[in-house]
Amino acid sequence: MTALVHTRAELQPFLEGFANRKRGVVMTMGALHEGHLELFKRARHDCDLVVVTIFVNPLQFGPNEDFDRYPRTLDDDLKLCAEAGVDVVYAPAVEEVYPGGQPIVRVTPGAMGEVLEGEFRPGFFTGVLTIVNKLLNLTDPDVAFFGQKDAQQLALVRRMVLDLNMPIEIVSVPTVRDEDGLAKSSRNRYLSPEERTTALALSRALFAGQEKATEGADAVRDAATAVLKAAVATGRLDLDYLALVDPRDFSEAPPTFSGETVLAVAARVGTTRLIDNLPLTLTTHGAR
Ligand code: AMP
Repeated sequence: MTALVHTRAELQPFLEGFANRKRGVVMTMGALHEGHLELFKRARHDCDLVVVTIFVNPLQFGPNEDFDRYPRTLDDDLKLCAEAGVDVVYAPAVEEVYPGGQPIVRVTPGAMGEVLEGEFRPGFFTGVLTIVNKLLNLTDPDVAFFGQKDAQQLALVRRMVLDLNMPIEIVSVPTVRDEDGLAKSSRNRYLSPEERTTALALSRALFAGQEKATEGADAVRDAATAVLKAAVATGRLDLDYLALVDPRDFSEAPPTFSGETVLAVAARVGTTRLIDNLPLTLTTHGAR
């Protein structure tokens, strides 16, 4: 049985009951799918208490973004949480999370939050880091689980925990995809069947880049760009960015770079904005 609580006071007995055991939290915006499920399973495996938060955070949506139409499916979400053995779903009201209204004090990410997603969604990562910080304070876990799907968010959360001396372990979970490669996302439900087919260009580009991982950074970028260019040429996809970055600071990987990278892409298909990425290990011997 998964308990549903809406307030910090209702959550308190669960946290106290597991005071000396391992407590895990998975933060979500609801509209849950199999990607979220993987995080829940990992948390269930690693922790004694599993808390899932469901909160559509107004602070991370821009004025022209999809806050109002973001899918809210609490009944279905609860069923999925129960299947995964989640102990408690904490779905707070905006007033509990933002008791002082618009927060005056916020967590800002610095330069690493201003590139890629941060460039296309100004203020996004301040909203994300502020809510992650708040929900960590409210749920007080030992471990928090995040998806590789949101690679820049994951990297920034890791930095926040390090830079602010937060005693919390951050665990990442690989991206879950549909069989044809499309990364699972709550926003996929906005896509018409034709748009969904167009959206496959994102993952195809990433996999084309991956095939060139032994040939250096430029070869990876070129292969991924070729796939995306073809999709853009159909007029059905608008590319925001393709980038091959160093996951430590999200700076572009230079042509001779070797080691861990993230190949990241963002594009709009119709009115839906999608992101995807693949972690790649680059070897230099083939660099041009
Ligand atoms: P969201 O509800 O979209 O804010 O996502 C909540 C958490 O689930 C974040 O840590 C995401 O990175 C993670 N997540 C979302 N989609 C996927 C996916 N396809 N595979 C793995 N994790 C995911």
